[in-house]
Amino acid sequence: MTNVNEPTEILSAATIEKWDDSADVVVIGYGIAGACAALEARRAGADVLVIERASGGGGASALSAGIFYFGGGTDVQRAAGYEDSADNMYDFLMASTGAHDAKLVRRYCDNSAAQFDWLEAQGVPFTRGHYKGKSVIAPTDDCLASTGNEKLWPFKQIAKPVPRGHKVAKEGDGGGALAMDALMTACEAEGVRVEADSRVNAFIRDEKGRIVGVRAKQSDGEKYFGAKNGVVLAAGAFGLNREMVSQYSPQFPDTCEPLGIPNNDGDAIRLGQAAGGDLRSMDGIIATASFYPPEQLIKAILINNKGERFIAEDSYHGRSAQAIMEQPETMAYLVMDSAIFAYPEVGHANHRLIDGWETIEEMETGLNLPKGSLQRTMAEYNEGAARGEDALFHKDSDWLQPLDKGPFAAFEVSYSNSCYYFITLGGLRTSADTQVLDSSGKAIPGLYAAGACASTIAQDGRGYASGLMLGPASYFGRVAGENAARAAG
Ligand SMILES: Cc1cc2nc3c(=O)[nH]c(=O)nc-3n(C[C@H](O)[C@H](O)[C@H](O)COP(=O)(O)OP(=O)(O)OC[C@H]3O[C@@H](n4cnc5c(N)ncnc54)[C@H](O)[C@@H]3O)c2cc1C
Repeated sequence: MTNVNEPTEILSAATIEKWDDSADVVVIGYGIAGACAALEARRAGADVLVIERASGGGGASALSAGIFYFGGGTDVQRAAGYEDSADNMYDFLMASTGAHDAKLVRRYCDNSAAQFDWLEAQGVPFTRGHYKGKSVIAPTDDCLASTGNEKLWPFKQIAKPVPRGHKVAKEGDGGGALAMDALMTACEAEGVRVEADSRVNAFIRDEKGRIVGVRAKQSDGEKYFGAKNGVVLAAGAFGLNREMVSQYSPQFPDTCEPLGIPNNDGDAIRLGQAAGGDLRSMDGIIATASFYPPEQLIKAILINNKGERFIAEDSYHGRSAQAIMEQPETMAYLVMDSAIFAYPEVGHANHRLIDGWETIEEMETGLNLPKGSLQRTMAEYNEGAARGEDALFHKDSDWLQPLDKGPFAAFEVSYSNSCYYFITLGGLRTSADTQVLDSSGKAIPGLYAAGACASTIAQDGRGYASGLMLGPASYFGRVAGENAARAAG
């Protein structure tokens, strides 16, 4: 069995006695970022070698739901009657995500609509349908859906809310596999070479400090691969490495289950660090165990174990999950009346019905809340809801309705008694041109990074929108591939 934390090192090119193979561009990892990098490098005229640790490509990308966050006036947005612009998208992302690098966000927004067209041109299927309901993953094959906090206060006042989730044409979950099939078919057709079952475990640097190759472990020993122009690191996230998750997010509940493939264990981060790369937002995580659908449950309220509300319940599910994580003992309840009662539909979230009570006072006692707390919270909420106002958190009036029709019920949405899943968002700090940067902000020559191993737009669950991993991974993968191909060796 291999050690997940296998040390990575940096080797001097002068010590390599025999190169086993070489290419103009070496891409590490064959998920969506790697496939897009390989295609674009190839089209820029480079001989491209992808080195992949698994026996075939796909990565976590092929497991994903296939939702891409695109905007700025995509063909699908226009077909559904929405007007969006790169400026509008930029204003929203800058206000809501906490992204550090305005130039990088600007570049993504300016190229977002064209990136959608590019994916479609590679054979990734998208319909022109629009799913209008509130869901985590649209159950239909419709493309467009709201997958973020666009309609949430205060963002709706900063940028015009429009839907930007673009899902691959597949009913419900699983569109990522279709996207990867199309991209890997294009890579094969265009002569991208792939070396599978090869785990990169070191970079090779020349005397001028340029990354000029990699070492990879194969079943019959270690091999050396030269990269004449550049190396693109696209080896994915680190969520499957518990040690790393607790190192970077010591407060993160260990009851939370990671989503991904076993190889999402942080090799890319350690390799990048060994080359001098700086890291950013390594504690950034999006966790989810959505309490909706059904969407009527958005009319319920979330309370903590002090009987207090703490977030607008019409937030995107990742934002509510982050807020729940920040409550005392990560405990929270979803409280409703009989008019809106329903069971949460996301089965794996495992939100347990605690009980039903005739009165709010009985519910307060049943939930072991401080005396008077829930009665006060609900009286204030109901009084505002009757007027269509939520003075505390500005929940939209569409979701406001007094919760006053007993009996009442509560579901447990705490981390300890529900099942939350997560992916990591932090990674190597890169420029808008995808060069890996050191702690002084200087580019490491010959080294580019894209995908989940690079920190781009999404920083944490509070600001996450579904599609903010696949979208930037696909776009910045292309940028990395093209830049690596054109770099002077
Ligand atoms: C179940 C699930 C659903 C998701 N749904 C969405 C969604 O709908 N929208 C969205 O935006 N995001 C989604 N995500 C997140 C998104 O899928 C990932 O962030 C994205 O796919 C990362 O792409 P990548 O190319 O960087 O990494 P990956 O697709 O993970 O590819 C990395 C590749 O690198 C390889 N590798 C690792 N180490 C080495 C090494 N040392 N040497 C060589 N190769 C190596 C791996 O084997 C892997 O093939 C989802 C994630 C999961 C798990």
